[in-house]
Amino acid sequence: MKYIVLDLEWNQSPRGKEDSVPHFPFEIIEIGAVKLNERMEPESEFQRLIRPQVYRQLHFKISEVTRMDIGELRQKGALFCDAIEDFLEWCGDEEFRFCTWGSMDLTELQRNMAYYRVDNPFPQPLLYYDVQKLYCLQYGDGSRKESLDQAVEEQEIEAERPFHRALCDARYTGKIMSLLDMDRYGVYVSVDYYRLPGSKEEEFCLYFPNYSKRVSRTYENREDIMKDKDMSDIVCLHCSRMLRKKIRWFPCGQKLYLCLGICPEHGYMRGKVRVKKSEYDAYYGIKTIKAATEEDRDALLQKREDMKKRRGGKKTT
Ligand SMILES: [Zn+2]
Repeated sequence: MKYIVLDLEWNQSPRGKEDSVPHFPFEIIEIGAVKLNERMEPESEFQRLIRPQVYRQLHFKISEVTRMDIGELRQKGALFCDAIEDFLEWCGDEEFRFCTWGSMDLTELQRNMAYYRVDNPFPQPLLYYDVQKLYCLQYGDGSRKESLDQAVEEQEIEAERPFHRALCDARYTGKIMSLLDMDRYGVYVSVDYYRLPGSKEEEFCLYFPNYSKRVSRTYENREDIMKDKDMSDIVCLHCSRMLRKKIRWFPCGQKLYLCLGICPEHGYMRGKVRVKKSEYDAYYGIKTIKAATEEDRDALLQKREDMKKRRGGKKTT
């Protein structure tokens, strides 16, 4: 399999968020990408400047960070539709996986494609490597996110090119990729949530060494998410046994449900459902199941108590 390391630069409404076009908060102004082979060696590169059609002035922050010039974009930039056509052709028919620093680029790419009504040829679910996440698993504490600039400095990669330009950042990200122990961390794929399962058949589950993740279809009402058995069931991570619940699902705020199951052989499993809103204001759930300890159980019981008190408190006022 090949890897396509992608980096985008985008602009936003120069007059701020309130003045944004719906479903088009960011307009892509540069695409940079590097294709890597199985050994993570660069094979070819892609770069296009894109002429802004929607936000025709650069937001001051964008010009500050990218040092791009609107005149240059107008003069040398391609139309998005032409640039994306070239890009998809460059990606080719061979199997590949996208790699990006952070989790935003593929969503913004697809948003821009949708805005310009370009057919979305990507597989569903769209799995990719979030190189920032993998970097932080291998070199960091697993949760604190580092910037690409920091990672490049830490790894003493020669920083001869400017940061925050698409192709340079893609090259740096590719170099970081080549340092990663993919035998160990390659299992940690990420999934892009721009396009979501529209039906039961499209729902999917991903299995990792220490947790599993299930993504539901979209619903009009958030309450419907937990009515589906596939969402509310807790299955053991190790033996796939259907588990009896030690703590039934309880809501924790508007966006979270928690529960605890117990496997007679493998102990506690904590279930968590995050309620999320899709691009078009539908709701979907992401369920994760993770092995838990007795301390986790106690913490969950405490949380349930706190939630009860809070709800009770509300009623009396
Ligand atoms: Zn089990």
